[in-house]
Amino acid sequence: MPELPEVETLRRALDRELAGRTLQSVTIYEPRLLRNASAKEFKRALVGHALRSVDRRAKFLLFDFGRHTAVLHLRMTGWPTLNSVKTPRFVFQFDQEKTLYFSDRRRLATLHLLPSADTHKLPPLSELGLEPFQPSYTLENFLTLLQTDQEIKRLLLDQRKIAGVGNIYACEALFAGKIHPQRSAKSLSQSEAKKLFVQIKKISARAIAEQGTSVSTYRLLTGESGNFQNFLLVYDREGEPCVQCKTAIERITQGGRGTYFCPKCQQRV
Ligand SMILES: [Zn+2]
Repeated sequence: MPELPEVETLRRALDRELAGRTLQSVTIYEPRLLRNASAKEFKRALVGHALRSVDRRAKFLLFDFGRHTAVLHLRMTGWPTLNSVKTPRFVFQFDQEKTLYFSDRRRLATLHLLPSADTHKLPPLSELGLEPFQPSYTLENFLTLLQTDQEIKRLLLDQRKIAGVGNIYACEALFAGKIHPQRSAKSLSQSEAKKLFVQIKKISARAIAEQGTSVSTYRLLTGESGNFQNFLLVYDREGEPCVQCKTAIERITQGGRGTYFCPKCQQRV
């Protein structure tokens, strides 16, 4: 699933290619994408308006058309591209022959139409928690969040608590912080919590610089792969030796998601 670095990579490319262009037409092939407006309402609100910018909040892409904003969540397999795709879920036709195609094999993506002035006050964006690179992502706020018995890995994946972090970067940040993924959040010492707080940001920034991680379906706007899969230290490396201590990386399941960790570097205590 695309996480903050992948969505940010796509956002930058979309903004560069499409901002300033006027939306000429919209075709929705998958009506269940739309969560709070009909295809007719969606078109009426956006067609004929210029795209001001493409922004991002956590894993959501925000297409700002002035009065209204289209909020797209890629979920598992959603992928926007300027190259034509076989089965598009929607197509946005812009002026000067730029066309945005949206492919989504699993059909779990969502599209909301929101008034731009209140985007952050309405669901789904109003339900998001602290996000790396936003001013509210402070150590103090992070420490407050950790005052719970919830397993630390599950807390990191809870978008209402920490927004933008997904399975890949949660595993990598916990490894960097030498923290066992099943420990309760409040069992972390002040210095462990600080390390985790810093690593989440640091690893996300490096992943953005490498244009994201292509381990499953994520691709750049052009169809090429990102590069951060070459820098993963634990994620998707079950049975391979730990880069620190050579112990085999283990995989367990937490909340239905695979967690990768080093049993020696990340002791349960
Ligand atoms: Zn190790």
